Amino acid sequence: PVTIFWFRRDLRLNDNAGLYRALKSGNPVLPVFIFDREILDNLEDKNDARVTFIYNTIEELRSQLHQNGSSLLVVYDKAANAWDKIIKEYHVAAVYTNHDYEPYATKRDDVVKEKLKLHGIDFHTFKDQVIFEKDEVTKDDGKPYAVYTPYQRKWYATLKPFYLKSYPTEKYFGKLVKIHQLPLPSLNEMGFVKSEAHFPGQEYKEVIGDYAEKRDFPATKGTSHIGLHLRFGTVSIRELAKTAHGYHNKTWLNELIWREFYMMILHHFPHTMDHAFRPEYDRIKWVNDEDQFKAWCEGQTGYPIIDAGMRELNATGFMHNRVRMIVASFLTKDLLIDWRWGEHYFARKLLDYEMASNVGGWQWAAGSGTDAAPYFRIFNPESQTKKFDPELKYIKKWVPEYADFSKYPKPIIDHAFARDRCLKAFKAALAK
Ligand code: FAD
Repeated sequence: PVTIFWFRRDLRLNDNAGLYRALKSGNPVLPVFIFDREILDNLEDKNDARVTFIYNTIEELRSQLHQNGSSLLVVYDKAANAWDKIIKEYHVAAVYTNHDYEPYATKRDDVVKEKLKLHGIDFHTFKDQVIFEKDEVTKDDGKPYAVYTPYQRKWYATLKPFYLKSYPTEKYFGKLVKIHQLPLPSLNEMGFVKSEAHFPGQEYKEVIGDYAEKRDFPATKGTSHIGLHLRFGTVSIRELAKTAHGYHNKTWLNELIWREFYMMILHHFPHTMDHAFRPEYDRIKWVNDEDQFKAWCEGQTGYPIIDAGMRELNATGFMHNRVRMIVASFLTKDLLIDWRWGEHYFARKLLDYEMASNVGGWQWAAGSGTDAAPYFRIFNPESQTKKFDPELKYIKKWVPEYADFSKYPKPIIDHAFARDRCLKAFKAALAK
């Protein structure tokens, strides 16, 4: 019999909680990855860069396993069907994996767990993606926090060195099943084409020291770009948090805590994936002008900071956090377009897309979220530019035609008019 370790959002061999437990379980361990058609078939872009990133990572994992005399079983199918095949082909004693928290993932895992149970196979899952998950940092009465600052305080109060310790998987690689290299379906066979996107590396340490001073200026490399690696688990959160904890200034660590806060919120308030955290905000009468939405998506609004942000997103799959806040405020408040439209567009484009943080960020901007800015705080694109891109370096990089007024589009809306209209629309919705 073999124990199976199922990789999902933890695509690394080192410091992997579930893999460590599987290797110590006794049986030889066969690692598995499923290219889940339930997810892939719903992706709109056939050159989706995230699929290429996962594919490259799978190739790398497979070759690392091969160097250890083992391999990676890769199945391309809907998850439930994939498990039917695996159970048929191998004598499976148990399945080990790491917790996956998004609504689709928890449903999928429930189905798989039931299926395995029918065959007498145990399904063991472990915390790996976060330092503290859903119910580990709560109010004293056990209820979830709905505001970040007290959550953060409790997070620190709960932290002990134990939580940052890495799992030394490499000591047990001898327990990997000895097997010839298994086949790997090609990207094309799965209906995708290779993306030419550039993927950021893992040089996060360079930014932690100056993060508090530099993080708000999109023209400098003041943030880590580690989001993609956190999303797919190509870096260990314990390693990041441990490193960050060693710095006197905790600003960067606090951002990692925001990530856990939003995951906790989505878990306890799953309706927030497509409904306002504060229900009265679902009453807002959005204008939802499709042409204006298209102009926003394409970076053709005539507001250079908005256009720079959207063009950076379209070209690279990344957008600086400060600019994410500005473009989200512009879409929801200036254009009065439903935050869900923006959330959906970001979900399609962001390499670091994470449902919990994306929904959290959008609801913050729209005023409907947990710690949201009051609705009457409406970003002025011009003053934001003066503050955060004073030399227009970021704008000039992404909107080169800005210098030539004859080529650059006129603003699609007047900010003063839009501000006034927004205040009226929000007031009307909240007054009821
Ligand atoms: P750094 O600034 O170096 O921070 C390190 C890590 O901390 C990030 O990679 C991320 O995991 C976490 N983090 C930082 N800021 C936040 C935050 N405000 N909320 C939650 N986690 C945070 N982040 C995502 O990971 N995925 C998303 O889909 C996403 N969508 C967003 C949408 C909007 C409208 C807004 C305003 C923010 C969104 N964020 C999202 C949060 C933030 O913008 C990104 O995490 C950050 O810009 C990623 O860049 P970085 O890796 O260089 O981050």
